[in-house]
Amino acid sequence: MDEKGKSPGFPYIAEHIFAPIYPVIAAHIVKESGIKRGICLDLGCGIASLGIAVAELTDMQVYGVDFSTEMCRLSKDKAHRYCLSGKVIPLQADVHLLPFRENCADLIVSRGSVFFWKDLPVAFREISRILAPGGQAWIGGGFGTKELKAMISEKMVEIDPDWHTASKKRLSSENLRAMQEAGRQTEIPYRVVQDDSGFWVILSKDE
Ligand code: SAM
Repeated sequence: MDEKGKSPGFPYIAEHIFAPIYPVIAAHIVKESGIKRGICLDLGCGIASLGIAVAELTDMQVYGVDFSTEMCRLSKDKAHRYCLSGKVIPLQADVHLLPFRENCADLIVSRGSVFFWKDLPVAFREISRILAPGGQAWIGGGFGTKELKAMISEKMVEIDPDWHTASKKRLSSENLRAMQEAGRQTEIPYRVVQDDSGFWVILSKDE
């Protein structure tokens, strides 16, 4: 809570509470995918924390995509503060209609946004359309490690008493099943990684 008793918004939470998870998630995705060059999209990027972490580790040109004007403004500010203005570019767009040509994105990352998407099959089809051959899309709700998830949960319940319930709902098997079904409908290969830190559906397009 701030001094007026109001809960802080997501930009504050990403910057001050979730901050340690992004470099861990980015390092894991870059290591597992082996993708370090080309174009990376951070879909539903918020303040582009994950996209910035990918940009810091790779030579990739990152686009932070979010449908919120405010998040795009904050992403731009954050990229500037990290001296990554040319490398991380905000783009206001909806994941259900992405303004990118076919086969252009080498790596797509999306954390914590999928739970708000209105039509998973449509969004997943857009992702598979723009994914480059040999590319991967990591869509999910991970917290990096079990320990980071526990630490963040502890801090989050202090500002949001419903955190545990909401978090369990987001990472529920129903949500994972809906994502798997959307993955199946893309007709490109997908797999699921699930552990104590959360889950990811990983779409990959053959070369
Ligand atoms: N990925 C960021 C992170 O992990 O810090 C932000 C997660 S925040 C919980 C969810 C974000 O998804 C918000 O910034 C919201 O504006 C964005 N979002 C939700 N639905 C979207 C859509 N259909 N298209 C683009 N962005 C969307």
